[in-house]
Amino acid sequence: MTSILRVALPVPLHTLFDYREGAAEAAVGCRVRVPFGRRELVGIVAERVDGSTLDEARLKVAGAVLDEAPLLGGELLASLRWAARYYQHPLGEVLFAALPTSLRNARALPAAGIAAVELTPAGATALADGAPRRGTRIAALLEALADGPLATAQLDALAGAAARRNALARGWIAACRLAAPARAAAAVAGPPLNDAQQDAATAVIAAAGGFAPFLLDGVTGSGKTEVYLEIIRDCLARGRQALVLVPEIALTPQALRRFRARLGIDVAALHSGLGDVERARAWLAAARGEAPLVLGTRSAVLVPLARPGVIVVDEEHDASYKQQEGFRYHARDLAVVRAKALGIPIVLGSATPSLESLANVDAQRYRPLRLDHRAGRAQPPALRVVDLRRQRLQHGLAAPAIEAIAACIGRGEQVLVFRNRRGYAPVLLCHDCGWSARCPDCERALTLHKREHRLRCHHCGHEEGVPNACPSCAGLALHALGEGTERLEDALGAQFPGVPVVRVDRDTTRGRRLRDALLDSLPEAGARILVGTQMLAKGHDLPHLTLVVVVGVDEGLYSVDFRAGERLGQLVVQVAGRAGRADRPGTVILQTHDPAHPLLGVLLNGGYRALAARLLEERRSAGLPPFTQFALLRAEAPQQDELDRFLRAAASAATAAPGVTLHGPLAAPMPRRAGAWRAQILVEADERSTLQAFLPGWLDAVRALPDERRVRWSIDVDPVDL
Ligand code: ADP
Ligand code: ZN
Ligand code: ZN
Repeated sequence: MTSILRVALPVPLHTLFDYREGAAEAAVGCRVRVPFGRRELVGIVAERVDGSTLDEARLKVAGAVLDEAPLLGGELLASLRWAARYYQHPLGEVLFAALPTSLRNARALPAAGIAAVELTPAGATALADGAPRRGTRIAALLEALADGPLATAQLDALAGAAARRNALARGWIAACRLAAPARAAAAVAGPPLNDAQQDAATAVIAAAGGFAPFLLDGVTGSGKTEVYLEIIRDCLARGRQALVLVPEIALTPQALRRFRARLGIDVAALHSGLGDVERARAWLAAARGEAPLVLGTRSAVLVPLARPGVIVVDEEHDASYKQQEGFRYHARDLAVVRAKALGIPIVLGSATPSLESLANVDAQRYRPLRLDHRAGRAQPPALRVVDLRRQRLQHGLAAPAIEAIAACIGRGEQVLVFRNRRGYAPVLLCHDCGWSARCPDCERALTLHKREHRLRCHHCGHEEGVPNACPSCAGLALHALGEGTERLEDALGAQFPGVPVVRVDRDTTRGRRLRDALLDSLPEAGARILVGTQMLAKGHDLPHLTLVVVVGVDEGLYSVDFRAGERLGQLVVQVAGRAGRADRPGTVILQTHDPAHPLLGVLLNGGYRALAARLLEERRSAGLPPFTQFALLRAEAPQQDELDRFLRAAASAATAAPGVTLHGPLAAPMPRRAGAWRAQILVEADERSTLQAFLPGWLDAVRALPDERRVRWSIDVDPVDL
C-alpha cells in the first residue's frame, strides 16, 4: 500500500495537501516536488498517513524527494507546529519561514565548509627567512597560519583586510575551504568576572542539562556580555552548541567580532544582510552540529541545532524581536518555547527588561539574575531634567542643553543628541493660511527632507518635491515646524563651528557598507557631536561619550499607546547607558515641557526598575498585557463600506466564549495608509488558554465570510502595537 504524504506548501492556506507517495520514500521533514495546479512547487512533508479523506484515486503523485535526511525534524519541527497553532498561521508558511531562502526551492544544498586562509610554501619560506619584519601585522598573520589554516572570520581579530590583501598579493597565503569546525585560534582573554557576574554565570552553568529560563537584569555596562561569554565557554566545553540572538543587524558585526575574538572560534552568522548562500551554509552548519556558536537576528530563532546547549537573547526587551508581517511571531517567546522543548537553559538579558519578562519573574516562572553595578570603574550617569516652558529654543534645544554641550566639547569629550525622528522637520506649514503638506494616501504630515529637497511620508513611502509657494494660497510663508535629526545636525554645526557633527539615522546608513563604516567610526576619540535616532540608542560602545541630550521626551509621555511609558523608560535608560562608559561620569539631559510628570519623577528617583514596577501595577489594574491576553485582527480595504461590512460580520461570527471579549470594529491608529482604509477588532481574554481555545473556531468562521476576499486581513497574537 502506498502512503499518503501530507505536504506543507508555502501558500497562505490553512491546510496541508495530500499526495500519493512516488517511487522514492519521503520522510517527514524532507523537501519534495509536487504538482500544484498548473505549477510545480517544492513542499515539505509534514505527515505520512495511510489513507486520505479525499478520493485517493484522484490524488496526484508526489515528484522527486530532494533531501536524503529531513531538513526540518525533531524538536524544531515540533516547535514550528506549535508556533503555527499558537500564532494561527498556516503551517506551510511557518515551515518555509524557517528555511533559508536558497533551500526554499529545489536547489541542492551548498557545499559544506567555511572560507579559510592557509600559508603557502612561499609564505612558509618567507616566514623562515624573516621577509616580513617581525612585529608587523603581516608577520603576525603568517605566524598564526604556520600551525594550519584559519577561518577568514577568525583572522579579523588578528590582522586587518589590508594585511591579508598584501600577503595574498605576494603569494604568501591562499584562500582555501576548511571543513568546519575550524580549529580554535588563540582566544583573547577578558577581564576577570566580578562576584555578581560570576554568580550569574554559575547559576546558569549549574542549570545545564534541563530547561531553566533566566532573566539577566543588568544595568548598561554591568558586563552582561562577559556573563554570556562565560556561559557559552562552558557550553562549548561540554561539546554543545550555543545560540545567541541580538536585536539589530547593525549590531551583529560588532557582536561577531567580540565573540570570535574572545572565544577563538568561528561564529556562524545568520541575518538578512548576508547573501543567500552564506546564510544557507551557516544554517546547515548549525543543523549538522558543526557550528559551535550561532549568532543572529530575529529569524535565527528558527535555526535547527544538532547539539543544543544554551540560548541567549540579548536586549530581550527590543521591539525588533517581534515579526510584524506574515508569520507574526515573537522571537524571544519562541526562544523560550524552544529552550523548553530542547531541555536547555535560556538567558534573557537586558538593562531594561520587558514588562512581560519582569512579570514572569514575579510569577516565579523566570529566575532573576541581577547585575546592579557597572563593571570596572565606570559610574552611572546623572539624569537631569531641563524645563522647556517659556524657554527660547534654538532649533529645539534649550539654553542649558546648549551650555552643557559647549562645556563637554570644551573638555574634548563627545555628545549624543538623541532625537527619534529623521528628516529636517516633521511638518511643513503655511503661516498665512494654515495649509500643511500631507500624504495623499495616509492623511498624515509629510516630513521635510531638506538636503534632498523632498517631502516624504514615513508611513507609506510616498514622496514629492518641496513647493516654492503654498499650494493653497500661493503665499511664500512656508515654515518648517519641529525638528528632525537633519535640522539638529545643521543647527549644531552652525552653533559649534569646527566640531565634527555625525548624523546616524536610516538616511545616513543606507546600504550595508555605509552603515558598517559609519558605525565602526563611532567609538573614535576627539570632541564630536553625534546626532541620531533609535539606531544610536542600542548597544554601541562609545567610550568617549559623556553627555546625552534627549530631545522630544514629551512625545513618549503623551502617546496613546499603552506601551509608550515602557518604551520611553527603556529608550531613556538605554541612551543614558551610552554615556560615561569609561572612567568619566556621564550626564543625561531630558528636555520636557512637563517636568512634574509622574513617570519622569519615578524614573529619575527610582530608575528603570521603579518605573517598571509602577507600570506593571498600572497594567494590572487597567487589565492590560501581560495580565490580559490580546489578539488583534487587522483589516484594510480600498472601500470603507466593504471594510466595515467585513469587520462587523467578523465580530458577529464569534460565538460567545466565557472569558473572551471582542472590542470593535475600531479605527486603526492610522485609519488610512497608502490609500487603504484600516480598522481592527481587539480580542481580549483573561487567560492564554482561553484565547487559544477561542481563536481557531472564530478564524475559521471569518475565513468563510463572503466579504473575506475583498479585504486584506491578518491576525496578530500577542501584538506589540495596537
Ligand atoms: P553590558 O553588555 O552589560 O552593557 P559589557 O559586557 O559590554 O556590558 O561590558 C561593559 C564594559 O565593561 C566592557 O568594556 C567590558 O569589557 C567591561 N567589563 C565587563 N566586565 C568587566 C569586569 N569584570 N571587569 C572589568 N571590566 C569589565
Ligand atoms: Zn497658504
Ligand atoms: Zn503615506
